[in-house]
Amino acid sequence: MSRIVYVNGEYLPEEQAKVSVFDRGFLMADGVYEVTSVLGGKLIDFGGHMARLRRSLGELSMGNPLSDDDYLAAHRELVSRNGIENGMIYLQVTRGNPGDRDFAFPPEDTPQTVVMFTQEKDNLADNPAATTGWKVILTEDLRWSRRDIKTVQLLFPSLAKMEAKAAGADDAWLVEDGVITEGTSNNAYIVKDGTIITRQLSSDILHGITRAAVLRFAREAQMKVEERGFTPDEAKAADEAFVTSASAFVMPVVEIDGARIGEGKPGPVAQRLRDIYIEEMRKAAV
Ligand code: PMP
Repeated sequence: MSRIVYVNGEYLPEEQAKVSVFDRGFLMADGVYEVTSVLGGKLIDFGGHMARLRRSLGELSMGNPLSDDDYLAAHRELVSRNGIENGMIYLQVTRGNPGDRDFAFPPEDTPQTVVMFTQEKDNLADNPAATTGWKVILTEDLRWSRRDIKTVQLLFPSLAKMEAKAAGADDAWLVEDGVITEGTSNNAYIVKDGTIITRQLSSDILHGITRAAVLRFAREAQMKVEERGFTPDEAKAADEAFVTSASAFVMPVVEIDGARIGEGKPGPVAQRLRDIYIEEMRKAAV
């Protein structure tokens, strides 16, 4: 069945939805995006995603074509029109179509492009992968240095994901100057002697919306949290490891570059945080 997608104010069957070949998102990856999960037909942490969207746009001196209320209404409309119980809503905003290709930004009144679509995923909350855990490989982080901006420039993460798949793993953790930054599309954590360790916020990593919520819940549950970088050796010797993202929630990691983590099974901290996250976010969903 064809989806109904949103393009610049219109709701269209996906086959009829079109964006210009001159769109700067297409030509220059001059666009930003957000992915919001849907559980039980409701949006998870929508406010967090809107706040980060505003920040990404601001960092790139790009306008924000819609209000938060407009984005919310469009998200809800897509959930309803596509009958989404569980899944994700993808939102992309670009600098639009100046009608030609030019490195210089187009005039500020150039209409921007806004696209949204749904991806259904029935087992989002009871994902079988969460009971076995992910295997990750380590690879060099060759992305640009403004990873705090959620741009659609995703070629390197995609290459790293393919490298992981070729190695029989689920994802790659990226390493820069001997320290892990994050996963290809998630934030990375280890647990040692009960302390949760994850890289501090900076322009080296994306400021995960799930990361913020999970660290808040961890602190509320009196767990110890250290925000600092950790090395591959430290990771391989950890008691537990996991990643967080809007679509994976809290996903245990059981192997890092061939080294078994802990018992080689999802650990208690990751499992507990996953349960708390899903429960609390369901309550707060809009
Ligand atoms: N880091 C990167 C590089 C990502 O692409 C993502 C997911 N978009 C994350 C972290 C996790 O962010 P969030 O929890 O907001 O999905």
